[in-house]
Amino acid sequence: MIEARELTKRYGGTTAVDSLSFTVRPGLVTGFLGPNGAGKSTTLRMTLGLDTPSAGTVTVNGRPCRQLAAPLREVGSLLDGKALHPGRTVRRHLLGLARSNAIGRARVDEVLETVGLGQVADSRAKELSLGMGQRLGVAAALLGDPGVLILDEPVNGLDTEGIRWIRDLLKSLAAEGRTVFLSSHLMSEMELTADRLIVIGRGRLLADTDMRDFIETNSQGATLVRTPEVDAQRMRAVLEAKGARVELDARGGRRVTGIGCAEIGDLARDHRIAVHELTPVYSSLEEVYTAMTRSSVEYRGTAPARETAGLDRETVR
Ligand code: ADP
Repeated sequence: MIEARELTKRYGGTTAVDSLSFTVRPGLVTGFLGPNGAGKSTTLRMTLGLDTPSAGTVTVNGRPCRQLAAPLREVGSLLDGKALHPGRTVRRHLLGLARSNAIGRARVDEVLETVGLGQVADSRAKELSLGMGQRLGVAAALLGDPGVLILDEPVNGLDTEGIRWIRDLLKSLAAEGRTVFLSSHLMSEMELTADRLIVIGRGRLLADTDMRDFIETNSQGATLVRTPEVDAQRMRAVLEAKGARVELDARGGRRVTGIGCAEIGDLARDHRIAVHELTPVYSSLEEVYTAMTRSSVEYRGTAPARETAGLDRETVR
């Protein structure tokens, strides 16, 4: 369990994190989202005891991280996959970490197998691809078999297979009752992986919610309507007469906005038009997130491409 209460961090005149309160619960994968500069890294650093709050508290299992007797056994983290000695081998890197935390050698081989690096255990860190470096970072996070995992952009550099692997791994770790807290700028991936979401903007909490609720509550209401093709034009005319917007949908049928699902059904009945499908359609996480955070994008226009790609695009539909 991770708990932040009124957590605040100021750097001179900049308030990076502003009275942030949230709880990250065990047994779930919780995603941490926010535009560039929102304060995610600062929050994660304070959570791990790498930075000191200006005010408020953040605890892991009820205590500030710096007070944990055996930190690696309670909280595993991946902040920078490349923070490695380049000449050291994969196994030696993990053995060093294990030794300093009184963790046995056998556990090193175990985590190497878990992350799929058993074959390259004797390679040097500098020989690893970005994806392998990420896997090694995950291995280090898992070394102490911790109940809490904090991962900053864990899918960076992973290929499709690697991304699926980490998604399954994080879900299974949460299913074992662990607390899994991760940030990612890949919205589609976050939507598939996380059960809950904490969204921040300009250091403040924007949402702390269940993933499905977040999408369903904030979606722009739309309905997928399928009628027999002979009735499609008549249905369109009826809907447009009521002020609805009707667009062709990529999956076939029409996507209707500006009018509710029940009203569409009633109109079809009144005009004796057969309806073969009437399905509420939700926005994607990216669309909802983009609309929500648009006003809190700090460096719009100058932010790195990875952020602007998602944030400055018009919300479609
Ligand atoms: P994110 O991880 O969401 O991109 P950060 O936590 O890195 O956001 O940054 C939040 C804000 O705090 C930004 O305005 C950033 O410039 C500022 N900031 C972060 N670290 C420092 C620091 N060490 N000194 C001064 N300002 C900082």
